[in-house]
Amino acid sequence: MEMPRKLTIANLPTNIEHLKRLSSELGNVDIYLKRDDQTGTEVSGNKIRKLEFAIAEAIDNGYDTLITCGAVQSNHARATAAAAAKIGLKCHLILRGSNEDVFEGNYFLDGLFGASIDIVGSDDFNNIDELLKNKQAELESKGRKGYILPIGASNGIGGFGYFHAMNEILEQEKALGIHFDAIVTTVGSAGTFAGLLYANTFTKNDAVVYGINISADREYFADETKKIIAEMNEYTGENISLSYDEIPIIDGYAGRGYGLSTKEEIDFIKYIASLEGVALDPVYTGKAFYGLYNEIKKGNLSNHKNILFIHTGGIFGWKAEQRDIIKNF
Ligand SMILES: *Cc1c(COP(=O)(O)O)cnc(C)c1O
Repeated sequence: MEMPRKLTIANLPTNIEHLKRLSSELGNVDIYLKRDDQTGTEVSGNKIRKLEFAIAEAIDNGYDTLITCGAVQSNHARATAAAAAKIGLKCHLILRGSNEDVFEGNYFLDGLFGASIDIVGSDDFNNIDELLKNKQAELESKGRKGYILPIGASNGIGGFGYFHAMNEILEQEKALGIHFDAIVTTVGSAGTFAGLLYANTFTKNDAVVYGINISADREYFADETKKIIAEMNEYTGENISLSYDEIPIIDGYAGRGYGLSTKEEIDFIKYIASLEGVALDPVYTGKAFYGLYNEIKKGNLSNHKNILFIHTGGIFGWKAEQRDIIKNF
């Protein structure tokens, strides 16, 4: 099978670290982290892996502008703005937010990297597909060519970012002399999970790839995962198709919903940070890793010995509100 072409922007392969103290506290399990938060400084996180494939497709088809969308503190939007600047493309972002959003974190970096930005309210954002197409048409009328990336770059082409990551993991397993029998990732728009699952199935690797959703529910994301897998088949010519039961999404850790934290989640992030020197983020990895930790404690993953969690990044997503929570420890 031939993979689509990719650019080389991220620092790959990312390291795999053993979390020694956490593992010995949990007992009978070894937890490892794949540091996809260290794919780069400006492009930090998982999105750049997907963008390496998506932007290559854009360039190969003569596009000059990347158009994408997300929440106002979207890591994906920031990584797209940074990647566009790195390779000399223009970038336009449509972000869900309001005039009250503070110009900080990812939102600030979007501006720093020179992206043009439209902030739209939640109601308008419900028609995001139309907004993206309108922008594309507007650019076209000015003689430019806008390439639309969906939220999170979670589509067929983006999924190859995590096919590539799976190949990396299989190589690292050999070098480290470890076999990961479970690989766990956050599910935010399902591209990372779908890519890993696709590669795991294609390579006949016997690990279980789990996703832990941080918003919506299992059913919604199982459908999204199926869609992305079907789109990946269009590139590979394969016919991979998974049933609902073959899509292991662990539900129950979305907490208060997207971008909102509970005290337990923040306490857990603080615990991991001081125990292992690893900073999780409140929107994605903090929730999912908290979910993994709880599932292990409940004995639901006791059939796994070596568990690899993908640290998908999010360091710029800390917001004033959450910094306040931390201050009160
Ligand atoms: C986007 C994101 C995720 C979720 O990845 P998806 O491929 O969208 O499911 C996880 N962690 C961080 C930090 C992210 O920015």
